[in-house]
Amino acid sequence: MADVLMKEQTKLSPEVLNELRSQVRGSVYLPGEDGYDSARTIWNAMIDRRPAVIVRAAGASDVIAGVRFAKKHDLPLAIRGGGHNIAGNAVCDGGIMLDMSGMRSVRIDPVAKTARVEPGATLGDFDREAQAFGLATPLGINSTTGVAGLSLGGGFGWLSRKHGLTIDNILSVDIVTADGSLRHASERENPDLYWAVRGGGGNFGVVTSFQFRLHPVGPEILMGLIVHPFSRAKEILEGYRKVAPKSPPELTTWVVLRKAPPLPFLAPEVHGKEVVILALSYIGDLEEGRKAVAPIQALGKPHAEVIGPSPFAGWQTAFDPLLTPGSRNYWKSHDFVELSDGSIKTVLEYVQRLPTPECEVFLAQMGGAINKVPAQATAYPHRDVEYVMNVHTRWGEPSKDAECISWAKELFEALAPFATGGVYVNFMPEDETQRVRKGAYGANYERLAQVKEKYDPTNLFRMNQNIKPAGA
Ligand SMILES: Cc1cc2nc3c(=O)[nH]c(=O)nc-3n(C[C@H](O)[C@H](O)[C@H](O)COP(=O)(O)OP(=O)(O)OC[C@H]3O[C@@H](n4cnc5c(N)ncnc54)[C@H](O)[C@@H]3O)c2cc1C
Repeated sequence: MADVLMKEQTKLSPEVLNELRSQVRGSVYLPGEDGYDSARTIWNAMIDRRPAVIVRAAGASDVIAGVRFAKKHDLPLAIRGGGHNIAGNAVCDGGIMLDMSGMRSVRIDPVAKTARVEPGATLGDFDREAQAFGLATPLGINSTTGVAGLSLGGGFGWLSRKHGLTIDNILSVDIVTADGSLRHASERENPDLYWAVRGGGGNFGVVTSFQFRLHPVGPEILMGLIVHPFSRAKEILEGYRKVAPKSPPELTTWVVLRKAPPLPFLAPEVHGKEVVILALSYIGDLEEGRKAVAPIQALGKPHAEVIGPSPFAGWQTAFDPLLTPGSRNYWKSHDFVELSDGSIKTVLEYVQRLPTPECEVFLAQMGGAINKVPAQATAYPHRDVEYVMNVHTRWGEPSKDAECISWAKELFEALAPFATGGVYVNFMPEDETQRVRKGAYGANYERLAQVKEKYDPTNLFRMNQNIKPAGA
């Protein structure tokens, strides 16, 4: 232990650390101090990294101090928002970690229908504040995810087919770039930076404030689950691929293939058996919603169905119990423009041998407003994708690492012939750096590299799915 502590602190003398402490309004944590371990612990328990120093920022001035400190002492720099990134880039070994979780303010302007959100806010923080005014913007499906990481990579959830990706609703950001200056980026100011941060991840600086557009949503929406037996999975998926593309943008239906959790509305004998779960929500008039949902309900006789009106804010937390922090996780993800016979056959074959009861394959329905935005309008290029498939491998014991990771990789390889080759950057694990250029950014990569060269020529911000400066 003493060796580890020594290694973490080799570069940082007490004088240097005092200099940092004197500049920071928030907290500074060193290894062994209270607050250090909780700040470096993130959602994915596979990640166990030990920064030399952690700064829990209280405001933009702390971020400026942290960025300048990293630059001056040539330290790796990691940025933590909600700590949910599967690759674990929120934490570095050695170096400095900027922990934004102390900056969680969300201020809603109900007249202008906009929100000012600090980068430590979670999706739950944002939804609660916005729903107090019957408003919302598209975010993800797990309320403990960070607004910052989700938004900077793209961001999609139940509202996206109607209102676009999270990035399509970013009006501006305040961002500390590698030279330590705070800039504003919007359509009018620093438009190149504004383009790049909408999908380019944490490559361009530390965002200290987001401004979002809001939409009237709920407060009640039609939502629910339909659970089918796995024995009819092929039929359900073949029916789903026919009806889903005809759904109005208000309706979004995701498919989850997994062993049934002990949901109270499922008969006990179904618990633990493979099932096909259709999770859906309709954002709009409840009666119109009932009509729109009917073709999904008609796909077959399920084990159980619970569909009805419910508060939107509650729906946004519905999957939290299945996605708690502290488990070991490994993900693989593919984009699809259609669900071919081959992709259905392959997925069903692998779901019959899930390595643990927590593993699942989910299929998120995209399209609608997401695909109305041109591929070059933001850094996120995948505007023709109809389904994102994520292989969620999840387990508790390190002894299961090899088995679980192999299962995910094999399924991923077997599905590759049916996929576009593209990938959503926020679903990439740490060992996929080779997919950043072509897979995550494709035709937008060169332009991103130019913006990176302009704002971060020495690649200070490299703890991410890294875009290399054009001149590198
Ligand atoms: C359980 C779960 C459910 C999910 N569901 C969805 C979903 O429904 N839809 C969806 O789109 N995604 C979803 N995701 C993926 C999610 O978008 C990414 O994991 C995202 O990176 C999480 O952001 P974070 O702030 O929590 O993560 P962190 O790990 O804290 O940050 C991720 C990265 O973002 C960058 N970053 C964070 N804060 C800043 C900042 N202030 N300035 C600059 N860069 C910053 C850094 O590079 C950092 O490494 C889910 C993830 C999990 C674990």
